[in-house]
This record gives sequence, structure tokens and C-alpha cells, in this order.
Amino acid sequence: MTPRIRPNVLGMRPYSPGKPIEEVRREFGLDRIVKLASNENPWGPSPLALDAMRSAVEDLSRYPDGAAHDLRTAISQHFNLPMNQIVVGNGSDELIRMLGLVLICSEEDEVVMGDPSFVQYAAVAGLAPCKLIRVPLDGAQTHDLDAMANAFTDRTKIVFVANPNNPTGTVVGKTELDAFMKRIPEGAVLVLDEAYFEFANAYLPNYPSSQDYLSTDRVVGLRTFSKAYGLAGLRVGYGFFPAWLSDAMERVRSPFNVNSLAQVAGVAALKDTAHLAKTLSGTKIALDRLMSIFERVGAKATKSYANFVWADLGRPARPVFQALLEHGIIVRPGDILGNEYAVRVSVGTPEDLDVFEAALVETMKEAVAR
Ligand SMILES: *Cc1c(COP(=O)(O)O)cnc(C)c1O
Repeated sequence: MTPRIRPNVLGMRPYSPGKPIEEVRREFGLDRIVKLASNENPWGPSPLALDAMRSAVEDLSRYPDGAAHDLRTAISQHFNLPMNQIVVGNGSDELIRMLGLVLICSEEDEVVMGDPSFVQYAAVAGLAPCKLIRVPLDGAQTHDLDAMANAFTDRTKIVFVANPNNPTGTVVGKTELDAFMKRIPEGAVLVLDEAYFEFANAYLPNYPSSQDYLSTDRVVGLRTFSKAYGLAGLRVGYGFFPAWLSDAMERVRSPFNVNSLAQVAGVAALKDTAHLAKTLSGTKIALDRLMSIFERVGAKATKSYANFVWADLGRPARPVFQALLEHGIIVRPGDILGNEYAVRVSVGTPEDLDVFEAALVETMKEAVAR
């Protein structure tokens, strides 16, 4: 006999990450692996962040600054927001989880999310536990804000909108978001997950930022250093919160949730405009290239404002995913993300995408021949 586990926990599934590079290397005995599975930055980490971390390693015998004062100051100045509205986390994933811990009060409470959207929102409801309402995206693979608002009740506590959405890369615009905001129930918080903010902000005129809605006191904006800044391995994210909610988050936050290297790296990365510009221009080129690759193989790709493309291959994607693995290419199969015909492919360098294009063309031909 072992002690009893909470039943809702047994109902949860462990997060299934993109296949690690080393695992594929071992499994297929390959030299070159191209990973296009986790929306990482193919141009690497911000060089300024790397320099800052090199100097900071000497101090690793000390605990980090628990309040992350310098990092929160840098974020506060960068976005011109008061310090007490900024909370940092061990990746924005941690902030998502904490939002559930502080806002869900009963099993009758409801979390509303798009479908498909980011899997960690479902984990919030699973852990609480509470009711999860999934609202299908519209025909354009975009959040159907009208349908989501129709699903609101007086038990709605958290509404998650990833903008741009993961896995589809689509964006909701300012007009729709303004109207949606008016329909958020009294007792609920709208979480705008802006993990891909830097991309959408660069590629889409009038992209509505969570910052524009902070004055409502009902909106949270989540950002991360994992994507545009290339620091996914470091685990550091941040959020803009109404003061009443950051107060609650601070009570729940584990004392040293952002390590000292991540803190100095975040400060430096925010200043690294050269690395960001390089990432944004390289990503734009890669997005266009991915669209034409998918067109070439007859797949239906969705226009993306993030750093990945969602494409419907018109046939089950799992065998294509498997065949690509044998070529040393890791993508994300859509079955685990809500559409078994789709794949999500992250941007890569031009060389990465040459390899991907050749392998995909071959794989799709074989699939027809079979
Ligand atoms: C990548 C991603 C995150 C998580 O980022 P971390 O800061 O690395 O935890 C959050 N939300 C969405 C939609 C993402 O795609």
C-alpha cells in the first residue's frame, strides 16, 4: 500500500515535450539533427545575456535575489509599468500554474480556453481541479471569441487566450478583443498569453498588446524570454498583473523561483536589440519559406504571426512525423495538439529548412506511393 494520490492528479497526463535531440540521435544513429519542434530560437541565445551569465557564475554559492529586484526593475522600465504589477516566474509556465492556484476556489469553477490552444491551460483545471471548457477555434484556426464569450457563466474564473495562439500562430485583432473584454464576467480574469509578443508586434500593425488592457484590472499579460530572446533552457518568464492579483501571486510564489543566472540574463536580453532584430528578420524569412514549402507539398498552412507554422497535410501526420525523424528532423505531430492531420513546424535557419524541405518532399511522395 502506498499513500493515496489526489484523484484529479491521476487524471492528468505528464507533459509530452518535443522529442529531445539526443534521443533522436541515439535512436536513428544520425549525425545531424534539425529540431523544429519546440518553437525555440534557431539563432541561439542573446549574446549579451550569455556575457552577463559568464560574469555571474562566480556568485552561484549565493541564493538569488528572491524579489528579482533588478530584473523586475528592468522590465518595469522597459514597458513603463509600476514594479508592483510585474511578477517573474520559472518560465511563464510557472505563472500559468500559479494563476490556477490563486484564482480557482471550487470544483464548480470554470476555466475557458480555445481548442486547440496551449496544453498547460488544461493542466490548470486538472490540478485545481475544476471544470475545463474548451471552445473550438473558428474555420480560420483563430480563437472564436464570440463562442468563448457565449460559454461564460458566473462560475468562469480564468479565460486563457494565447495571442498569437499556439499551435496555430493566429492572432485576434484589436476590435474583437475590445468587444470580448466587455463580455469578461465580473468574477473572471482574462489571461492574454503573449509568449510570441515580439513576433506579432513586429509583423502585424495594430497588434493588441495586453498592456492596453491593464487598466481594466481584469487582464493579465504573460511574456517569456524563451522564444524571441532564445533563453528557453534558462526558464524565465514574466507577467503584467493587476496589483490585487500580483499581491496574491507573491504570496504563492516559491521563494527563489527565478535563478540568479536567469535574472541577470533577462536584464541583459531586454537590452539586446541587435539579437532581437536578427531573430525577427530571420523568423520572417523562415515563415515565408515554410509557407512555400507547405504549398509545394499540397498542405494547407495557416498564416502565422509567431515563430512556427501549423499545416494540415491532408493525411494522418503521425507517419509523416515518423518518416521525418528517420531523416533527423523533429517536428510536432498534430495528434497530440488536437488535429491528427496537422503538424506544427518551428522556424529554422535557411540550412535547417533546406534539409526539412528535401525530407518533407520525399516523405510526402512516399506516403502517396504507399
Ligand atoms: C512557449 C510557450 C509558453 C511557455 O514559455 P516558458 O516561458 O518557456 O514557460 C507559454 N505559452 C505559450 C503559448 C507558449 O507557446
